[in-house]
Amino acid sequence: MCVSKNRLVGSCYKKQMSIPVSQVRTSALMLLCDEMLIRLCRWIRAAGYDCAMLPPGSPDRDIMSLAKREDRLVITRDRQFLNYRQAKDWIVFIHTQDLDAQALELSQALSIDWLFQPFSRCLVCNSPLVLADREQRRQLKVQLRADEDLWTCPGCHRHYWAGSHVRRMYRRLAGWNQLAALRDKNEE
Ligand SMILES: [Zn+2]
Repeated sequence: MCVSKNRLVGSCYKKQMSIPVSQVRTSALMLLCDEMLIRLCRWIRAAGYDCAMLPPGSPDRDIMSLAKREDRLVITRDRQFLNYRQAKDWIVFIHTQDLDAQALELSQALSIDWLFQPFSRCLVCNSPLVLADREQRRQLKVQLRADEDLWTCPGCHRHYWAGSHVRRMYRRLAGWNQLAALRDKNEE
């Protein structure tokens, strides 16, 4: 589910160029979602951020250990995490169950740019996508136009290309940026 050589990536690059200095650190954001936030996790990956998730049922100590080892911020709906020492430094607590509201909460907490590097990572396993080679294109059961790129995940070998689903997701990501900007303006 990726795009290149078309206007989606074009606007992505423009967006990156215009990130204010105050948000530059978001480009290096390393995140880790708990299992209650699997949908949000996939959308964070769709935006292009590195967002890990441990298998369901993983104990809190494993989540903490991974976060510490890889310097990741933990995004969670589990209040237990708030009891840990210096939780405010490495925990982003999400209050709501609604995906759109969760996205806004995250925007508020971390200045997330939802069009950071859209569709550059596998939504399922978080690996950065690479362009498929000619043989992988040939084996795909879906017929792509010559000018449509095919991307592949080196981690789980899923293929991605720009279809109507990607365009819908892109519009939702862009909408979250607009809502966050509107909220920031109202708070000024
Ligand atoms: Zn994958």
